[in-house]
Amino acid sequence: MARMKSLVNKDGEANHKTVDEFDIVIVGAGHAGAHLVNGLVRSKFTGSVLLVSDEIFQPYHRPPLSKEYLKTENIKPTPLLTGGALSSPNVTFIPGCRISAGDLQAGALTLTNGAELSFKKLVLATGASPRKLTVEGSDLEGIVSLKTLLDAEKIRDSLLQTKDLVLVGGGFINLELAFSLAGAGRNITVLEQTPRLLQRAVSPIMSEFLKTQAEKLGVRILLNEEVSRFERDDNRVSHVVTAAGERFKAGLAIVAIGSVPESKLAQDLGLECSNGIIVNGKLQAAPNVYAVGDCVFFPDPTAGHSLRLESVQNATDQASYVAEELAGSEQEDYNRVPWFWSVQGDNRLQIAGLAKPGTKLVVSGDPANANFAVYHYVDKLLCAVETINRPGEHMLARKILKDNFSPTEEQVMQGVDEIKAALAYWKTKTP
Ligand code: FAD
Repeated sequence: MARMKSLVNKDGEANHKTVDEFDIVIVGAGHAGAHLVNGLVRSKFTGSVLLVSDEIFQPYHRPPLSKEYLKTENIKPTPLLTGGALSSPNVTFIPGCRISAGDLQAGALTLTNGAELSFKKLVLATGASPRKLTVEGSDLEGIVSLKTLLDAEKIRDSLLQTKDLVLVGGGFINLELAFSLAGAGRNITVLEQTPRLLQRAVSPIMSEFLKTQAEKLGVRILLNEEVSRFERDDNRVSHVVTAAGERFKAGLAIVAIGSVPESKLAQDLGLECSNGIIVNGKLQAAPNVYAVGDCVFFPDPTAGHSLRLESVQNATDQASYVAEELAGSEQEDYNRVPWFWSVQGDNRLQIAGLAKPGTKLVVSGDPANANFAVYHYVDKLLCAVETINRPGEHMLARKILKDNFSPTEEQVMQGVDEIKAALAYWKTKTP
């Protein structure tokens, strides 16, 4: 790590304090930040790299937190930094500290511990945070969100005290939690504001399938239910009350109603933000500044507009892309087929592509057997494929979406061999 003089102080005057200088500073050590470090180490990048995390742990995989983590004793978090990234002499990791301010022109950053440093290239991988409910009583004890290992530990402790759980929001995280925690004498109620589960992410067929599966395990799922306030017993939540006036006993309320991009630092640095940090096709927010992962609003050539995604695939693919950029590779603009997975009890849901509202749906297989696929079409063009317990078909879906191939309804109904044959034939005809 090189040492140098700070360029300016807070008042813009020359500063004579010594600060650390890095070739690359990465803010945030979630999937995107950690994967970027892995990529740089793998490509034998020789410059100095600093990874700063406001969490106190070494970077870890988040998806298990809502799946096996809470139902398994003595489970350890799965580390994200691999391949000797932490022992690499040119990588520095600072946990438990935020980058609080900076000056892009001067290439200078300030940490919450007061330290200052300078960078040549900056990567913002600041992620997204759980959206907060702002109704009466939202700040009572026993009302939590799940994002970090510390949140998971809080939930684990509460599970020792109560069997009455109300999960506010019927999205991926709360549904995974409902499946993971069902049984053991617990009363689990999911309150969802819209008419169906996962409304923005999956087809009505998938919403209904997951609802039926959860209900089979004794989870109570109530739709069109808006939470209006929390009642207390001392300082702790006792009931969740809906707009319709129903009261649900709750020793623990888990709120998972979506996420908001962490773009405050980017804004303070003068970068343009809307639904996330705005980047160009090279994932650049400004000269020498990149942004990756959940915090990014990026142009998607397939969708034809900019969007923000929250998934491990998006975080790691964007990190790999920027690792190549930083290593000096010549690349086309970023363009990947999005995909996503979720484990809902015994069922593995996978999604390739992006479903849009109002698509024509073609179903192959039978939801009653927990083994089926839902193909989404806009006109005759395939845009997404959802599968339950069909990993091979999911991989094929990613391939055909990448190739811009759309099988016909008949081919889908005949199964994957027919789709593969149609794809092979189509390739011989397509220049
Ligand atoms: P994050 O993982 O959010 O990491 C960003 C980090 O930056 C955070 O630690 C944040 O605190 C830190 N940070 C922010 N600002 C600063 C600052 N100024 N200074 C220092 N540090 C800062 N995705 C899937 O595809 N499949 C799944 O099954 C799945 N399950 C999930 C289950 C749970 C419980 C959760 C919470 C998420 C799940 N996800 C899943 C989503 C996936 O984990 C995220 O899409 C992914 O973590 C995004 O990575 P990221 O690096 O962009 O952001």
